[in-house]
Amino acid sequence: MLTLNESSTLSPTELAPNPTQFYRPTWVDISARAFVSNLRQLKIFNGPGVDLLAVLKADAYGHGALPLARLAEENGAALIGVSSLEEGLSLRLGGIKSPILLLGSIFPLENFAVALENSLIPTVSSLEAARHLSNIASKKNKVASFHLKVDTGMGRLGVSPIGAKSILEWLPSQKSVVLSGVYSHFATADSDPQMVQNQLNQFLQVRDIVLGLGIKNVSFHLANSAAALLYPDSRLNLIRPGLALYGLSLVPVPAELNLHPVLSWHTKIVFLKKVPLGTPLSYGATYYTAKESEIATLPVGYADGVPRSVSNKGFVLIKGRKCPIVGRVTMDHLMVDVTGIPVDIGDTATLIGRQGDSVLSADDWAMWAGTISYEIFTGITKRVPRVMVE
Ligand SMILES: *Cc1c(COP(=O)(O)O)cnc(C)c1O
Repeated sequence: MLTLNESSTLSPTELAPNPTQFYRPTWVDISARAFVSNLRQLKIFNGPGVDLLAVLKADAYGHGALPLARLAEENGAALIGVSSLEEGLSLRLGGIKSPILLLGSIFPLENFAVALENSLIPTVSSLEAARHLSNIASKKNKVASFHLKVDTGMGRLGVSPIGAKSILEWLPSQKSVVLSGVYSHFATADSDPQMVQNQLNQFLQVRDIVLGLGIKNVSFHLANSAAALLYPDSRLNLIRPGLALYGLSLVPVPAELNLHPVLSWHTKIVFLKKVPLGTPLSYGATYYTAKESEIATLPVGYADGVPRSVSNKGFVLIKGRKCPIVGRVTMDHLMVDVTGIPVDIGDTATLIGRQGDSVLSADDWAMWAGTISYEIFTGITKRVPRVMVE
């Protein structure tokens, strides 16, 4: 577990790399309690008979995948979803025993062998890929479990519903592969109900083929967070939420749910100065003070994942007050205007999270930067320590 080291005088021996300490006061808190609460609420909300696959790809949307995978495993997630072999392997190395589905593409197809060796469930999107998997498994005298991906309108990965039919009809003659899931992905779960219905209808036709062939024990899944919250019919026997587990939503959250943001992002004032009217700040001198001002410097910049596009636009919380970012965000620092707020060096500045009654969310940052919360989260870089709390 990481701890913030408050002392700044270090002997050479103390400077040896120590992954349990950090010195720069910029960090992310990850609330275990919020994550577990979100997961349990989603399970209850979706009802009995609907399993949950916890989407922990991209290092759990930047939250840190391994600790959250452990919590997901302990709190009833039936499966874990990641994108790549690398992400799956790092969870296996970390001791995660749950079934892990690789949601991304596998290329080249020889890499199916790595999935098989490490009990990672690959996604198959073509008959060619299914054959390849079967050959690899049969050479190793193993049976490879896989999920079939069907493209019903996302246009990214997956076989067409017609192509799915030929794969499914080929399956019963196979001894080295077993179908454990069939899935698809919504393109408009947060925006276009008509298209959701259309994709769902196509998917249900594929499901009927599977059931008609008498193939048993198959998970059918296509509901991401937005669909799981908005469209009960789309839940089938497995939901696949990511964002909602992290406590955010692109769609209105039903009243019976109380999702909590898991991630908060903090730093501390490291430099403070009073400047006269007309003082330029940061690269390009894009900001001049309009009056005598107090300016705080924060040790967080675009190399930490603060979008440079929030220069002169975004805010942070200090003493529960919203302080505007003034001048351009630089690689390692940014400046905020704290005029009129009784602040000191060492005071905490919150980029994402709560101070008193004030809250800034990843959605606020996304709005300032012209993007979505997913990109804000995954943009927080490796050099920002993630600290598990609660
Ligand atoms: C990322 C992803 C999800 C989760 O989406 P959210 O909107 O975060 O719930 C589900 N399924 C697939 C295939 C994904 O890539």
